[in-house]
Amino acid sequence: MQFPSPHEHILPNDITCISSPPLPDQFNVKDRIRGSMLGLATGDALGASVEFMPHQQLLAHPVSGMQSGGTWGLKAGQWTDDTSMALCLASSLITTRIFDPYNQMVRYKWWYKYGFLSSTGHCFDIGKATRNALNIFSQRQKILQQAFGLHNEIQVDSLSFKDVRKVYAFDVNCSGPDVAGNGPLMRLASVPLYYFRNPALAVELSGQSARLTHGSEKAIDACRYYAALIVAALRGESKEQLVSQQFYHNHRAWFGAKDLCTEVLYIALGSYKKPGGYEMGIRGSGYIIKSLEAALWAFWSDGNSFRNGVLAAVNLGDDTDTTAAIYGQLAGAYYGAESILPKWLKQLYAKDLIICISDWLYYFGQQSHSTVHKKKNMYYHVPTQLHKKYSNPAIRMHRGMFQSVVPRRVHKAKNYDSYLRDHLPNPQMWASSQAHIRPQYQQIAANHLVPYSDIFQQPFYSGQR
Ligand SMILES: [Mg+2]
Repeated sequence: MQFPSPHEHILPNDITCISSPPLPDQFNVKDRIRGSMLGLATGDALGASVEFMPHQQLLAHPVSGMQSGGTWGLKAGQWTDDTSMALCLASSLITTRIFDPYNQMVRYKWWYKYGFLSSTGHCFDIGKATRNALNIFSQRQKILQQAFGLHNEIQVDSLSFKDVRKVYAFDVNCSGPDVAGNGPLMRLASVPLYYFRNPALAVELSGQSARLTHGSEKAIDACRYYAALIVAALRGESKEQLVSQQFYHNHRAWFGAKDLCTEVLYIALGSYKKPGGYEMGIRGSGYIIKSLEAALWAFWSDGNSFRNGVLAAVNLGDDTDTTAAIYGQLAGAYYGAESILPKWLKQLYAKDLIICISDWLYYFGQQSHSTVHKKKNMYYHVPTQLHKKYSNPAIRMHRGMFQSVVPRRVHKAKNYDSYLRDHLPNPQMWASSQAHIRPQYQQIAANHLVPYSDIFQQPFYSGQR
């Protein structure tokens, strides 16, 4: 698949999909990843026609399916900022194949300025905090333009986080400590979906994905906690385990040195278990703590039905599409794509693109898993240059705006394997993760313990907060 340049103004429905190469799928994870992304978009589309409508009005006329109209005048099945931003984040992971916060911000900016991955071709709704952060980001890009002597926006946008972090005057986190809207939670899914094989990394990077536009500890921790739930769902944990008040305690190792803040901890201990729902204080508001609580209330009380849960989230009123989009990420990951009503999926805008993106997240997540490792609380990555040059799959992508498919270069792939075998600090881990792909290297790798080489001294992300 190719993500077009934002300047081409190609609508999501018109983006061509190439299905991802097959990978063994023992635990039906692929269906769960599709479920999470489709669940997000379905919730968004169901809520879009009644966004900002108060609960009382929805009590009289509850939403029961996809409908057109509302604040944005969309067609039935069309989705809003939640899905657009979620797809921007996913497109960044698929294109760069690392967690590149700068590239993520560039793509959010493309959506804001040029309607990239918008269901209508332009950005018609954007949260205040996100807009502020993206305006600050655009301003700060001028620092980079000067520092690198670049002439236009396309060149600045093509930089990577590896380049820009050398410029000390530039900070990619464009928000303040009091910003706690639900923006980062509505777009979250692809980070835990991509990194679920390494839960601690998934949780840490989910926090970082929030920090770009929403600097409050509450926003960061809400995303860390919700990512842990999505990861646990993908890893096959039961609903009882997910909604258990012991969940945080049982998975404490995933959360690193930093405890959850009080507000999120209170939710993790079960504050959302209110049978009366709205009557007992559950609200679908834009405040991230209330959104998180509302989505979990819907999941907890849905009677194991995606349909019930997503409609309950919408019919809470207010920020209907976002509450339902947040619910959909977890419920979809837990129940799988097949739990979403086929008639809704049929109406869902750019459904095929969302499925295609989900499958590539699954595929590249597996590929990158074998190249990520941790030392002294820092995450390291096999250098991108090598990854690009000797990449195992048949797809080669250029960082930035374009991806292209090139024929597989067998001799190079062989070099890449020996590179990994010789340089990864834990060959056993590599061997087991690659076992089904490259059995011939299992034994060689297991016998091969080599210390870190100098090229690993550059962390791609610091685990220290
Ligand atoms: Mg929205």
